[in-house]
Amino acid sequence: MDIDDLRAALGGNTPAYRARQIYEAVYQRRVESFDEITALPRELRASLAERFSLAAPAVASRYESADGTRRYLLSLEDGKTVEAVFMPEPQRDTLCISTQVGCPVDCKFCLTALMGLERNLTAGEIAGQVLTLARENALWADARRINIVMMGQGEPLLNLPAVLKATRILADPKGLRIAERRITVSTSGITPRIAELGAAPVRPRLAISLNASHQEQREAIMPITQKWHLDGLLEACHTYPLRPWEKLTFEYVLLKGVNDSDDDAKRVVRLLAHLNCKVNLIALNPGPGIPFETPDPDRVLAFQARLRRSFPTFIRRPRGLDIYAACGQLKRMDTLVTPA
Ligand code: SAH
Ligand code: SF4
Repeated sequence: MDIDDLRAALGGNTPAYRARQIYEAVYQRRVESFDEITALPRELRASLAERFSLAAPAVASRYESADGTRRYLLSLEDGKTVEAVFMPEPQRDTLCISTQVGCPVDCKFCLTALMGLERNLTAGEIAGQVLTLARENALWADARRINIVMMGQGEPLLNLPAVLKATRILADPKGLRIAERRITVSTSGITPRIAELGAAPVRPRLAISLNASHQEQREAIMPITQKWHLDGLLEACHTYPLRPWEKLTFEYVLLKGVNDSDDDAKRVVRLLAHLNCKVNLIALNPGPGIPFETPDPDRVLAFQARLRRSFPTFIRRPRGLDIYAACGQLKRMDTLVTPA
C-alpha cells in the first residue's frame, strides 16, 4: 500500500495523519507488527491487525554459494513461492528480485521460461522481497549500499503497474529511501511498455535484453520478437527519455556458435550506434533442458573487444552458479542443491 491506499483503507472516520504514521512505521522503521506502532491508539492497532497483514514474503529456504551469493526461496500468502538473490560486493550489495512467479516469455536459453507464468506479483510482494532480504542480511545499517535489479523471475514490463508502484515505495524519500538510480528493471523488449515506463515520473533505470544481432536470430531464441520486432524495439530506445545521469543498458547473452561471432559483434555495434548506452555481456549460464552451450572465455573477450570501441562493454561475472542463482537459472532447482 502507498499512502493513498492507506488512507482509503482506514476510511473517512480515521484522521488522515494516521495513514502517514502507519506509512512511516512500515517503510522507515520497518516494524513487523501493528503493536509496534505505539503512536496509534490501542483499538486502532487491534482492528488493523484483524483486517491487514504486515508480512513480507517469508524465507522458505536459503541456498549459499561458495562466492557469497545467497538465493532465497520466498513463500507468498497464497502458498506460491518465488526466488530472490542477494549478491554482496565490496562496494555495494545487489538484490535481484522477481516481478512474476515464473515467466510467460518463452526465451529458449532461460530456465525460468520452463515454468511458464503462474501469476503476477503485487507491488507489496515486489517491494517486500527487498524488506525480507535486507533484514536477513542486515543491510539497513548502511542502506546506501543497496542496489536493486528487477532481473529475477518474470518479465517486469508485463506487470508494469505493480513494478512502478513498488519502485515509488522503494524510492520514496519518506519511505525506504533507495534512490531511483540504484534500481534497474530489465525487459525482454515489450515495446509499447517501454514508452509507458519512460513517461513515469518515478521509475527505475532501464536494461534491455538484446541477445541477438538481427531479427531472424532474435526470433529463433526469443520468440516474443515475432510480435515485438527488433526495429520497433530500437525505435523505442531512440525515443526513450533518458535522465541526465542515465544511460540505457543492453544485455547480451552469448550462446556458443549462435550469436557470438565477430560478424554478430559488428552488427550489434551498428544496431546500437547513436544510442547513449552500455553493454553487459553474459556468457550463457547452463541448465538442464537448455539446448545451448557457453562460449569459450577467449570468444567472450574477443566479442567484448569489438564492442568496446563503440560503447562501455562489461562481462558479467556469474554469481551463484553452484546454487542455481545466476542469470536465467531461477527455476527452483531445489532438488539439485541443498539449503544452507
Ligand atoms: N525477463 C527480464 C528480466 C529477467 S532475465 C529479461 O529477460 O530481461 C535477466 C537477464 O538474464 C536477461 O538479460 C536474460 O537475457 C538473461 N538470461 C536469461 N537466461 C540466461 C542464461 N541461461 N544465461 C545467462 N543469462 C541469461
Ligand atoms: Fe522471461 Fe527474461 Fe527468462 Fe525471457 S530471459 S523467459 S523474459 S525471465
